[in-house]
Amino acid sequence: AKRFNRGKVVFYDPEHVTAARDRMQMLSQLRQAFTSERLFLMYQPIVNLKTGRITAAEALLRWRSDNGDFIPPDRFIPLAEQSGLMVPIGEWVMRTAFRFLKNLGNIASEDFRISVNVSQTQFREPDFATKLFQAMEDCRVEPARVEIELTESVAIESLERIKPTLGAVCQAGVSIAMDDFGTGYSSLSVLHQLHINRLKIDKAFISGPGCRLDNQGIAATVLQLAEKLSLQTIGEGIEDESQRKALLEMGCTEGQGYLFSRPVPAEAFEELLKKQEIQ
Ligand code: C2E
Ligand code: CA
Ligand code: CA
Ligand code: CA
Repeated sequence: AKRFNRGKVVFYDPEHVTAARDRMQMLSQLRQAFTSERLFLMYQPIVNLKTGRITAAEALLRWRSDNGDFIPPDRFIPLAEQSGLMVPIGEWVMRTAFRFLKNLGNIASEDFRISVNVSQTQFREPDFATKLFQAMEDCRVEPARVEIELTESVAIESLERIKPTLGAVCQAGVSIAMDDFGTGYSSLSVLHQLHINRLKIDKAFISGPGCRLDNQGIAATVLQLAEKLSLQTIGEGIEDESQRKALLEMGCTEGQGYLFSRPVPAEAFEELLKKQEIQ
């Protein structure tokens, strides 16, 4: 809220005033959506690139506005971050995702993971780890089945501040993935200091325009690095079979993307898991 107020003071030209008013309006709608349960989660399968089996689910936040439209997370999450609302929303995301995992029961194998995106402002809260542990305990979810995803920008901007938090999280047995890897400039030392055990290769390097899926490309470079550091890998944004094949050949173990499935509601995800049990 602080930053927002500060912004308001210096906004004086008419365009800025309108933009600020729009944001304020959207923020109040978001608050309302949160309290009236119009935020919900979709789940996207993460699969073993070799066998095609679903190994994990990533929880992705959705907002259905009053008129039934979907507002994409890229539009409202920055606003939620600026206003501090992302902290309670983020906690709700964790709890909802953990309940989803619990509800899957034995449809999901023992090593099936649930992966949750954690934002900058959540990480910067001193009690983030405590909240995470409490949520796992309340939902009776084993830490080994939980993964949190942070982006490179969070890692770089808040390194010192989040180091102890991630130390505690790792100690508890929760795994930590570096999201959108390759888009920022994190060093090897950062990966080590933050106890990262998985790299998610950004979709820009897999299905993005002009990207190369050969041994000259960024994906190949990241995979070689991961191999040397014994890190697990997930390729993001896999949209066709040739991309799956190329990644697999380059040593990538898991993948995610429209080729396998778009993000789906909890019930549909359950169906996907059941279907593969039969096969
Ligand atoms: P992300 O974490 O990188 O999530 C992957 C995004 O790629 C998702 O977009 C997903 O729908 C999309 N995607 C998956 N497969 C494909 C594909 O094959 N091709 C293409 N072009 N896109 C694919 P989505 O759901 O719109 O989410 C956007 C971003 O919003 C996420 O990027 C994440 O940074 C953020 N986000 C979503 N949910 C949460 C949340 O609960 N908390 C926080 N902090 N951030 C979230
Ligand atoms: Ca993610
Ligand atoms: Ca990503
Ligand atoms: Ca992204």
